[in-house]
Amino acid sequence: MSQQLDTQVIHAGEDSPRIHGAVRVPIFQSAMFEHDDNPLRYIRYNNTPNQMVLNRKLAVLEGAEEALVTGSGMTAITGALLSVLKPGDHLLIQDSLYGGTHSFVTTLMADLDIGLTFIDAHAPDTWSEHLTPSTRAVYVESITNPLLHVCDLDGIIAFARTHGLVSMIDNTFATPFNYRAAEAGFDLSLHSATKYLNGHSDIVAGAILGRGEWIRKAGQTLKHLGGALDPHACFLLHRGLQTFALRMRQQNRNAIELARFLASHPAVERTYYPGLPDHGQHTRASRLFAGFGGMLAVELKGKLAAATACIRKLKIPIYAPSLGGVESLVTRPAISSHAGMTPAERARAGIRDDLIRISVGIEASGDLKADFAQALDG
Ligand SMILES: *Cc1c(COP(=O)(O)O)cnc(C)c1O
Repeated sequence: MSQQLDTQVIHAGEDSPRIHGAVRVPIFQSAMFEHDDNPLRYIRYNNTPNQMVLNRKLAVLEGAEEALVTGSGMTAITGALLSVLKPGDHLLIQDSLYGGTHSFVTTLMADLDIGLTFIDAHAPDTWSEHLTPSTRAVYVESITNPLLHVCDLDGIIAFARTHGLVSMIDNTFATPFNYRAAEAGFDLSLHSATKYLNGHSDIVAGAILGRGEWIRKAGQTLKHLGGALDPHACFLLHRGLQTFALRMRQQNRNAIELARFLASHPAVERTYYPGLPDHGQHTRASRLFAGFGGMLAVELKGKLAAATACIRKLKIPIYAPSLGGVESLVTRPAISSHAGMTPAERARAGIRDDLIRISVGIEASGDLKADFAQALDG
């Protein structure tokens, strides 16, 4: 029987024998290595000791055949897309996307003559209408930002198999703790390891996990583009991963408790969290995921004035963008992650100006609830 994630994060993929017996893999601050019987080793080739231990470990965590650590989440996403799609090819992609991904597919990929159709990932009946003879891949996110939608992920996998497409997922929000996307059948699972995988808000990193043939192609593309993770950042990601399972368990628990608290608070108009029964895809999320993740969002009855007052009064969460670290963060997507959209586009996407997004950290749940209580009352 395969080991559980708690054990895998500590032991999977570690060098055997240990390098000079070192219990922790030391930082190999060396760009190149002496010739030996192995392929040329070089940081940009992603095959130095600090990178290889992560490549092996990350693959195990999601039940993927192979994995590559990358210099950022965007390197993982762009490198994977460019290794799958060639000029003239066509991509089906979910209509609510991480901003950087949206920008990449609509600008640089368009310049490369890679076609694109946005699909409603909640409406499987409509997907095949958008197929063209040059459609090569379908791309979704496991949980969308900031309204936490969960699309029909099993449906996407089956659709891709039926039509011979490469299935790709940005699994940053769910993480391998809550959803083993590669094991579930996605050909490529992409991560911003900046977020939960590292978990300490101190590096930018990414990962591409999935089928060996696609990982090898992506590795070739990244040799051209660069974007390898440097040894020191590898060391920090490796260290962060040790506590990934512990952190995720606490973040899942804190987020559902905070979501329930906020949903029943008189100042709150609406709480978005896949773990709440009134969330549109709660049943699906319960079936697909081991937990509902650490992200939630709220709209307050007092609209923008109440939102800014609440953010100002909060003492524990830091008012900052990004997510997935040990500390709780709050932000308003309208002025951060979704500031690049016009007000009309945001309105169409259902993102109100007063929406507060919360990345729940690993603090004591009672302290978080008490802090929100004081920030909302008053
Ligand atoms: C942050 C993020 C990215 C980009 O990752 P970087 O590490 O900042 O390059 C991509 N997708 C999602 C869902 C993210 O949250």
